[in-house]
Amino acid sequence: MISTMENYTSEELMQLEDQHGAHNYHPLPVVLTKGEGVYVWDVEGKRYYDFLSAYSAVNQGHCHPVIVDAMINQAKTLTLTSRAFYNDVLGVYEKHITEYFGFDKVLPMNTGAEAVETAIKLCRKWAYEKRGIAENAAKIIVCEGNFHGRTTTIVSFSSDNDAKNNFGPFTPGFIKIPYNDVKALEEALKEENVAGFLVEPIQGEAGVYTPDEDFLTNARALCTKYNALFIADEVQTGIARTGSLLAVCGNCTCENKCEKQATYNQPDILILGKALSGGVYPVSAVLANNEIMNVIKPGQHGSTFGGNPIAGAVAVAALNVVYNENLIQNARRLGNIFRSEMQRIIEKSDLVVKVRGKGLLNAIIVNDSPDSETAWNLCLKLRDNGLLAKPTHGNIIRFAPPLVMTEEQLMECVAIIEKTILEF
Ligand SMILES: *Cc1c(COP(=O)(O)O)cnc(C)c1O
Repeated sequence: MISTMENYTSEELMQLEDQHGAHNYHPLPVVLTKGEGVYVWDVEGKRYYDFLSAYSAVNQGHCHPVIVDAMINQAKTLTLTSRAFYNDVLGVYEKHITEYFGFDKVLPMNTGAEAVETAIKLCRKWAYEKRGIAENAAKIIVCEGNFHGRTTTIVSFSSDNDAKNNFGPFTPGFIKIPYNDVKALEEALKEENVAGFLVEPIQGEAGVYTPDEDFLTNARALCTKYNALFIADEVQTGIARTGSLLAVCGNCTCENKCEKQATYNQPDILILGKALSGGVYPVSAVLANNEIMNVIKPGQHGSTFGGNPIAGAVAVAALNVVYNENLIQNARRLGNIFRSEMQRIIEKSDLVVKVRGKGLLNAIIVNDSPDSETAWNLCLKLRDNGLLAKPTHGNIIRFAPPLVMTEEQLMECVAIIEKTILEF
């Protein structure tokens, strides 16, 4: 029997998780019960601005009614058929997402890590069948400080000891280079049997490391020159977060849907997740053109839940919200305001030394060592003042509110952040 959810206090609920759940996370002490747009509420009824957005899954805002309705309607009609049979949602969704991002085909999965795994498998298979690389010899270039998920293969090329230690033996076939280093990339591409370059256009988990303006353009061109696949992991940066449809679009002026597929830094393989569902359901996707995607044939890859009708209906609705509510433009405009406001605060305070990011994916660097508790304590004070954010890598605080925020709400948040920093 499931015990009633009512009448627990925050303290008791945290105690339950501590006692009965694996300790693979260290949450900020706040217990949430409700979300709407840019706000979340704790079980005692206190309201907060959400400045994490579930790691950019909730770009469209909490419980967006259009997305939730799409999910409920589909859930009442047909939830799962497996891919053993066709269903009347998948093809419609596949047409929608491929046109939206300008690719021939999509391979639907559920989580971000699964989509990254899919991209790695696709790249390797392409290398053997189209490039003629000898079996088992293909290598993929990755970056130091990367975050691509938690599976055994993905942690094999992580540089984070916590993510890696005592999870070996690891999957071979990866070359690690420094992030944002075009020279190192070209040197690595010259090595034998290099099949692809897997990269985050901005390193979110590492602390919102934003590369030089021309890094992605150069990386795209170098991959073409050396006949390696340019694989963009846009699980966190994609779908309007950085003020463009994808972070690889850079300053491409396309509004909403991709209109000039040939001229932006189009990846050979694009990986999406998180905001693809607006945070209501696990939906991820790998996109590529025919000459790459067609190397995968029946029986060679799959997922029971991948491409299920609820996922398809939810993703179509989530992408429509981004388009209809002009979230790209809003993220771009509010991001510029936010960074200039943070810069203004930095000039008044010794506690924060830097702000960086793009669109509404930003971080501030706290003036203390990564081992200190300062950023964590600052987040506790922000919470007390009604704004939720979490440190990443010790002294970095990521600020990534839902993209449906208004300028007025953003200025209220800036005031909370300013007050908290100056009080600290
Ligand atoms: C979150 C994230 C992933 C993994 O997604 P999951 O859904 O947690 O498996 C992969 N890549 C990037 C860039 C991410 O931010």
